[in-house]
Amino acid sequence: MDANYFIRRICVYCVFFLLSQSAFAANHIIHISVDGLYADALNILSETELPNFSRLKNEGSTTLKARTDPDWTTTLPNQTSQFSGRRVDDNEQEHGWEINFDPGTITLHSNAGRYIAGIFDVVHDAGLSTILFAGKQKFALFERSWNAINGADDHIGIDDGKNKIDKFIFDQSTESLVSKFIDDLENQTRHYAFLHIKDPDTAGHNYGWSILPGSEYLNAIKTTDNYLGQILTFLDTNNEYDATVIILTSDHGGIVGRTKHTANNYQSHTIPFYVWGKNVENADLYALNKCTAIQPSATEIPPYSSTLQPIRNSDAANLAALLLGLPQIPGSHIHTVKQIKSKNLKSC
Ligand SMILES: [Zn+2]
Repeated sequence: MDANYFIRRICVYCVFFLLSQSAFAANHIIHISVDGLYADALNILSETELPNFSRLKNEGSTTLKARTDPDWTTTLPNQTSQFSGRRVDDNEQEHGWEINFDPGTITLHSNAGRYIAGIFDVVHDAGLSTILFAGKQKFALFERSWNAINGADDHIGIDDGKNKIDKFIFDQSTESLVSKFIDDLENQTRHYAFLHIKDPDTAGHNYGWSILPGSEYLNAIKTTDNYLGQILTFLDTNNEYDATVIILTSDHGGIVGRTKHTANNYQSHTIPFYVWGKNVENADLYALNKCTAIQPSATEIPPYSSTLQPIRNSDAANLAALLLGLPQIPGSHIHTVKQIKSKNLKSC
């Protein structure tokens, strides 16, 4: 370990020690995106059937009335929003990634015509460690966009380099992916760890987004609950990750009874947003964020023109930065979820 690295690590942990005294402290973020998770399906299954989703709900701050981007209900556009804290739209404020496949050559930046910073920039530039584990190969778009060639220079403190994602893993077996994810956390200290679980989306496309008892789709959610349980067990038994916050949301839902998700259908837009961890209060996430967010009605697809916005999956990026005590992502503006404790609530 060289001297600079050692000093930086000491400084980082001093800052974390101070932050750990505050209400917003997290030393580690585990950000999970469950592909195709229609939030109302979580109400169909019992707490016995979903012990781990239920634990997030019963111990953390949750809503089952979060939303995707109002115009896009596909994976890569919404995933880019989850990392960058921006809308999908193709204009100079947003990220502009509208296609749902990876062409294999271009990056988020070359597509937009400017650099699209993400949570990986902010965490890595602070000298902290990041990983991205995904169950779909097209997530290579993100690895390529923020790698040692295409990532931005680091002008924050010590130069941590252009490569913003320390490890990228694609594995089409979710069981194997989750196992590798937990092994990685055990063997390395990771501060922002992203995991993509594809199973509900796969079941939805193959068999339909069915909420009938015993459906393949509901079974895929139960399987996802089991993966979540493996991660919670790891956190319960690993002191180093004591101050970890899980942010769990989805890229999109799906049309009940159909095998697709479309932008004109509210079920495709309706997703959960869970925040769980030692410093997170057990509360409705909209109640905690009543000054900055408004809960939509069941079938509403609120546009960006509304003064108060719903909680969106794109809130994950800046919430992760906030909880780690890091600055907002450069160029981002979606930051609706700011509170995880009622004692910080002020009158609006
Ligand atoms: Zn899909």
